[in-house]
Amino acid sequence: MAIKSEDLLRELELLPVWQQRPASGEPDAVVKPSPMYEPAPKAEAGPATMQERDEEYVAEPAAESVLNSTSEEPAVMLEEMDPPDELPPAEKDEPSALLSPSGEDRQQIIMQMGWSALEQAVEHCPACNLCNTRTKTVFGVGDRNADWMFVGEAPGAEEDRKGEPFVGQAGKLLDNMLAAIKLRRGNNVYIANVLKCRPPDNRDPHGEEVTQCNPYLLRQVELIKPKLIVALGKFAAQSLLNSDSAIAAMRGKLHDYNGVPVIVTYHPAYLLRNMSDKAKAWEDLCFAVKTMQGL
Ligand code: URA
Repeated sequence: MAIKSEDLLRELELLPVWQQRPASGEPDAVVKPSPMYEPAPKAEAGPATMQERDEEYVAEPAAESVLNSTSEEPAVMLEEMDPPDELPPAEKDEPSALLSPSGEDRQQIIMQMGWSALEQAVEHCPACNLCNTRTKTVFGVGDRNADWMFVGEAPGAEEDRKGEPFVGQAGKLLDNMLAAIKLRRGNNVYIANVLKCRPPDNRDPHGEEVTQCNPYLLRQVELIKPKLIVALGKFAAQSLLNSDSAIAAMRGKLHDYNGVPVIVTYHPAYLLRNMSDKAKAWEDLCFAVKTMQGL
């Protein structure tokens, strides 16, 4: 996919670009050419989310067609777009595969699951304390044959209520970031989080929670077989890459997650609050597109 110079100009603030879509229910007069980067309305009052503490942002789509679009795409699960499960014989997709998560062979069991068993396992997961405070688990959404996979940190309040990833303000920005590189959730894109349950008060995930949740993401990646993973934010990057490097050190490089190339960029929630990093996020997206073209 060629990045048009017009798109780049927009990102350099020479043209109007990424812009917050209104929250659902608001009128359709979505695209204001300027001023750019109006502060995004807070999804909820209270302490900064973990992503906001971590980093943040932007946005509006670079593509003219997206800028001019007034359609409000609801950030809903697009499961109906998923092809039916086709499980190789080795995959166990019957409920009996949902064994005690505390057994030594838990990871092995999860790694044999098909989509249906995996979804059920996540939905009923009691493996860490987050099961006591979650409203809904947040499995992941999108095209199960996607080339692109975007991985965030953990559900926030809105995601916990709806059971879908990235449906709050950060999700709207993520949609616009996708649109900027001519992608759309559900269409060759799968979106998931490292954690499937919301940490209370949006606190940082605990190591044990990540350890327990890791096999689910690993299995999702194995089933989807994306060509490229984009890690959204420091936490997702550090978890996927098993690293404690700063995001600045991880950006601009091609990493590896179980054989799948990984590119690191800022979390949309960070970008909502740190507009000055929007140009870097755009660089990362261009790097991701270029990388994908070569895969
Ligand atoms: N932030 C994330 O990392 N994931 C979500 O699903 C929502 C916000």
